[in-house]
Amino acid sequence: MESKTGGGDWEGMEGIVRAGTGGGDCQGMEGIVRSGGREWVDNECILMHKDGNLELKNSRLGLAQMEEGSVLLRTELAEVCGTDVHLLHGRLDLVPYPIIPGHVGVGRVHTTIGPVCDVAGVPVLKGDMVTFLDVLDTCNSCLTCLVDKQTTRCPQRRVIGITCPARDSDIKGLLGCWSSFIYLPPKTKIIRLPDALPPSVFMAGGCGLPTALHAVDRANVKLMDRVIVQGSGPVGLLAAVLALQSGAGQVIVIGAPAHRLQVVEAFGVDATINIQEITDPSERLRLVEELTVGRLGDIVIEATGRPEAVGEGLSLCRNGGTYVVVGQYTDNGDVSINPHYLINRKHVVIKGCWGSDFSHFYRGVQFMARHKNLPWHQVVSKVFSLKEARKALSCIENLELFKALLKPHSSLG
Ligand SMILES: [Zn+2]
Ligand SMILES: [Zn+2]
Repeated sequence: MESKTGGGDWEGMEGIVRAGTGGGDCQGMEGIVRSGGREWVDNECILMHKDGNLELKNSRLGLAQMEEGSVLLRTELAEVCGTDVHLLHGRLDLVPYPIIPGHVGVGRVHTTIGPVCDVAGVPVLKGDMVTFLDVLDTCNSCLTCLVDKQTTRCPQRRVIGITCPARDSDIKGLLGCWSSFIYLPPKTKIIRLPDALPPSVFMAGGCGLPTALHAVDRANVKLMDRVIVQGSGPVGLLAAVLALQSGAGQVIVIGAPAHRLQVVEAFGVDATINIQEITDPSERLRLVEELTVGRLGDIVIEATGRPEAVGEGLSLCRNGGTYVVVGQYTDNGDVSINPHYLINRKHVVIKGCWGSDFSHFYRGVQFMARHKNLPWHQVVSKVFSLKEARKALSCIENLELFKALLKPHSSLG
């Protein structure tokens, strides 16, 4: 990682900026630099380039460029997730590199331009601790939105931290959470974190939560359903937790490695199966038959990203059961299955699940506030500084940690 420093003397600690010698009065409060009658912030962010280079970039950006109705957040915590690993390796389509990664984060409102309200119509005020829906520009004007009602597939959709290009000379380009400030364009859907919900607890749910909530909605879990979750990463864990809270009668999680399954077990699932220990899918099927007294899953949720999991997942569904595929976020290749035995004869319902919308995000925040006493501290494995972004990414890629967060404005590492 190389480091570049833009103009101006500055100190990164807590965003406090001290004046250089030139240009008038400057106040250290909240990272604002006042110079020549204008206001600026000194920002530090990670630029991710197409070749996988991560550049730590410092720049002084003018607040005057902000649009009416926009908000600038001073970042509290940002997530490092599997999506960022895919971005690093160029596995996602239509990514306008360089980008500032980080599609889910929490920050304190630093500046608002004009009146800005949250979705409940309550004014968003300086100092509020908020999060925001990472999806921008769902158009609600196209056939996909209006007729098909599949807003997560709207072609206009852009996602902060994924499909928004970074413009490092313009404050409006701070469209990613791996940055000491985040720019929220007008109409970004903002949610104030409830007072009782600490940012670190909210981020334990983080980006996996709306995705898992969408998947569990698609699964339509009913009281006493037997739910089998394939995958023990954040989405798998959260799908299991949400299934339990939706009244499932039994939840079984199949995944690896052991330390992730231990976290999953701490949330009260009924059983876990370690695929590194039970390596034969037919043996795993036998175990699930034993655990469910031969009934298999009313619902199976795939959250692995591994194509070969799909055939196995179908085999774990009961006759007439439901299979939700949410983990195949990138193209990991083809797989062959036997449609006679696994689909037609089983009479299964197969549902894909892409992205999430504001309802999943909003209810996810409410869920975390309602269930803040679950053992979320076991999920956030480590908090890194921006300078340690590459290390954080490799820990997630190698499954060394359950979840990694970045904390800008910190002197960690
Ligand atoms: Zn649309
Ligand atoms: Zn994510």
